[in-house]
Order: sequence, then structure tokens, then C-alpha cells
Amino acid sequence: MAKRDYYEILGVSRNATEIEIKKAYRKLAIKYHPDKNPDNPEAEAKFKEAAEAYEVLSNPEKRQRYDQFGHAGVGGNGGFSGGGMNMDDIFSQFGDIFGGAFGGGFGGGFGGGSRRARRGSNLRVRLKLTLEEIAEGVQKKIKVNKLVQAEGVTFRTCPQCQGRGQVTRVTNTILGAMQTTSTCPACGGAGKIIDKRPPGVNEEGLIRKEEIVTIDIPAGVEDGMQLSFSGKGNEGPMGGLSGDLIVVIEELPHEKFQRDGMNILHDYYINFADLALGATIEVPTLKGKAKVKVEPGTQSGKVLRLRGKGLPHVQRHGKGDLLIHLNAWTPKELSAEEKKMMEKLQNSPNFSPTPTGKEKGFFERIKEYFSHN
Ligand SMILES: [Zn+2]
Repeated sequence: MAKRDYYEILGVSRNATEIEIKKAYRKLAIKYHPDKNPDNPEAEAKFKEAAEAYEVLSNPEKRQRYDQFGHAGVGGNGGFSGGGMNMDDIFSQFGDIFGGAFGGGFGGGFGGGSRRARRGSNLRVRLKLTLEEIAEGVQKKIKVNKLVQAEGVTFRTCPQCQGRGQVTRVTNTILGAMQTTSTCPACGGAGKIIDKRPPGVNEEGLIRKEEIVTIDIPAGVEDGMQLSFSGKGNEGPMGGLSGDLIVVIEELPHEKFQRDGMNILHDYYINFADLALGATIEVPTLKGKAKVKVEPGTQSGKVLRLRGKGLPHVQRHGKGDLLIHLNAWTPKELSAEEKKMMEKLQNSPNFSPTPTGKEKGFFERIKEYFSHN
């Protein structure tokens, strides 16, 4: 299912400022708010869609990844698109968007209410992938050592906020008394604090535990790319939402291919006689083998292009090409008979190079092929 562009969802331009993005989201959040649209699944979907778009575009790091790699860069099919953000996620954003006015007064009733636990931190892992895995996309089970809520921890009501998660302060200004509400600094908004914790459990009530996480890697990812899987990171303290799992892609070197973006390059060593007489050669591809025709009189250094046998783009449609670089192979030793034949050819005027100036060097040729994409 095609996901809509985040900028389009919020109705802002690609170079919109943070303030413009916030304003646009605030408008949509009010318009499609579930309290205003009871039993309206369409409004709810729009509400969630806008929240997801805002979640990404309001975060400079995520926005940059989205600009560069599209939906795949910020979660792809492993991230948000699975089930979208849940309502708790969305309402927890509201504190930042609407400030105390919305989160406290207007919004006291919905979502998690005014009490909200802190979100877990992001967890980063490196993931090695072969070119074959990258070509097709792959599901991976990876072992992570993540913070989870420990058993045996006891809590008590936060003495500073009496469990409300918020503290209200009244200050006298020249305009009169102003009341401000903010997250309780003692409990971080959870309304409770840890009473007793077993050994090995940190002060947030979390403990490290090994876990196997299943993630879907989209096809076409690149070395160094970061994929973010929402909610698969460290658990939040005291029932808070989990952070994200950030997967940094590491591409393993391939013994037969070199990658350049969507294209892959293979150095093929060919019998000189095949170049002179023409032949059908078998070359490796990412999925196996392919037969390629070499025309009679082909120069060493020629690059043959196999369209669509390269890599897919992580976001766009279409595939790159497989480029076969032909290199004439010279035998190290010759038999007496071969030597005789070679000496004959050596003295044949037809074998003297007569370049016309139209032959292209290797780099020029490669550049030409790559620039087609
Ligand atoms: Zn508190």
C-alpha cells in the first residue's frame, strides 16, 4: 500500500520551517481529533496519519533521513506503517504541541490523561547484509541487549506531585497571578517513584535483557543507512512507551561485484580469441547466471550492460544495471605450438593497434553508463 508523502499530509512545502510544520499539524490535530469526530474511522485515520507525519518532520534527524530515503529511511515497512502510531504516542506529542493549555486543561480526559511516563531511549545496532540480501530485501532476527522493565520492583506514589505527574506553580507577574503547569521533576510525569528494586535494576526500574527482534529490511538499502523501527528500542520506565530501534546498515564486500548506487560492476576475464571471434559467455548475476553475447572484434575493456540486473532503489521504482567489464586474459605460459601461432599473429599487420580515437577509456565508459541513472 502506498504511503502518502508526509509533506503532502501536513500540506506544507518541502522546505517548511519547524514552526510552519507545527502550525499545520496543530490545525489537523484539532480538526480530526477523536473527541470532535466520535465513531468516525476516517477522521481517526487522518488524525493518526498527521501525527505520524509530524513525528518525523518535527525531528531534524528523522526529517533528513526522510528527505533522503523516503518512508524507508524512517522505518520503511518495519516502522510506522505496520500499525501506525498508537493513540498514547500521539497524545504524548501533545504536550509539546499545545503546551499546558491542551495537555492539561482541554485534554485532561483523553489518551493517557495528564499523567504520562517517560519514553524509553533508542537502541542502536549494526546489521551486516550481503549484496544478495540487499537486492531482495530480507527479514532478519537480531539479538539485542535492551532495557526492559524489571520484575520485583515496587513503587510508591510520588510525594512531590501526589501521583498527578504534574506540578502547578503560581507566580505573580505585573499582569496578575499566572498559573503554570509542568511535568513533575521528581517522577518525570509517571506519578510514582521506585520504592524498592532488586540488585541489577537501575534507578528507573529497568534491567538489560537479551531479546530476539524480528525486522524487515527493505530492498535497496545502502551501507551507512539508518533504519528506525518504532517502539522496538528500550522500554520506557514505569510503563512508558518503548524507544526506537535504530538499525545501521553495513554492506558486506562481495567477491564478485562492486556496487555503485543501484548499479553493480563485475570484472570479467575473457579469452582473447573470444573477443576476436565472438562468443557467448556466462556471467554471474545476483540471482545466479546469465548468458551474454560478445560480438566478433570486441575490444578488451568494453563494458556490457545488463539492464535491470542491478539493485532496486530503496524508495523509487526501477532497478539499476549489471555492468560487465571485459578484460582480455593473457596466458602466463605458452606451449611450443601456441608460441608459433602467436609469433605469426605478432607479425601480422592486422594485429597492430590502429585506434581511431573513438575508443573510450574505461573510466569514461563507466562514467557514461552511470550517468544514465
Ligand atoms: Zn511526581
